[in-house]
Amino acid sequence: MGLFKPKWLSNNDEKVSKAINEMNSQTKLARVARQARQYWAREQALNKLTDQKILADIAKNGEDAAIRVQAAEKLIDQSLAQKIFADLAKVPSSVDFRLQIVDKITDQSLKQELFADIFRNNDDPNIRSKLLDKLTDKSILTDIAVNFSNDDWRRHACLKLTNGEHIIEGCICTLCGTAYHKFKVIDSSSHNERHINGYDMTITNKTLKCDNCGIITAEKVIDYQGYDSDYNR
Ligand SMILES: [Zn+2]
Repeated sequence: MGLFKPKWLSNNDEKVSKAINEMNSQTKLARVARQARQYWAREQALNKLTDQKILADIAKNGEDAAIRVQAAEKLIDQSLAQKIFADLAKVPSSVDFRLQIVDKITDQSLKQELFADIFRNNDDPNIRSKLLDKLTDKSILTDIAVNFSNDDWRRHACLKLTNGEHIIEGCICTLCGTAYHKFKVIDSSSHNERHINGYDMTITNKTLKCDNCGIITAEKVIDYQGYDSDYNR
């Protein structure tokens, strides 16, 4: 043990905690809040900090994002605190941590942008659905409904935007592209074929037409009928 090693750098948790408890100098506490090895020790020192200049400096320039958030929370200057929350919320990190910070942001339109950013950059369906619940900004929802890479999420956003009613023109939603055709079979022909593996198949080719818009599409149905064990001998 070096003679000059401060007690708060000890490996003994009890010693560290006691040293911070006895510490009164704001400058020293600031050093511990920045440099202590253990998160709880940085937190303990931060809790004793009241000097607004020091807190602002840690909030702006600290290395530990969670400590920066806590320092910002102790700031009297709310606009600076909000700026720090906004900066931290933009940095890619764990979704839980980002959401926790976004919750502290009071600017509703910035909040919506950040929810959208997390929505776009995360592919966990549970998180996406949670975020879609939080999204209320019509231009953001429209952008997702029109441009998002995944058709299902485009449809979800469209339904949220239109209160469950797609904007239908003909049979196709003009926003998200979801199609609602009322197809009816207008022609059907079948023939039998033998599959290379010996299955007899009935292949039916159907022509379908939408009752509403008249669009025509084809469908092929293969019905396997059985296996001929003599085949290929
Ligand atoms: Zn739609």
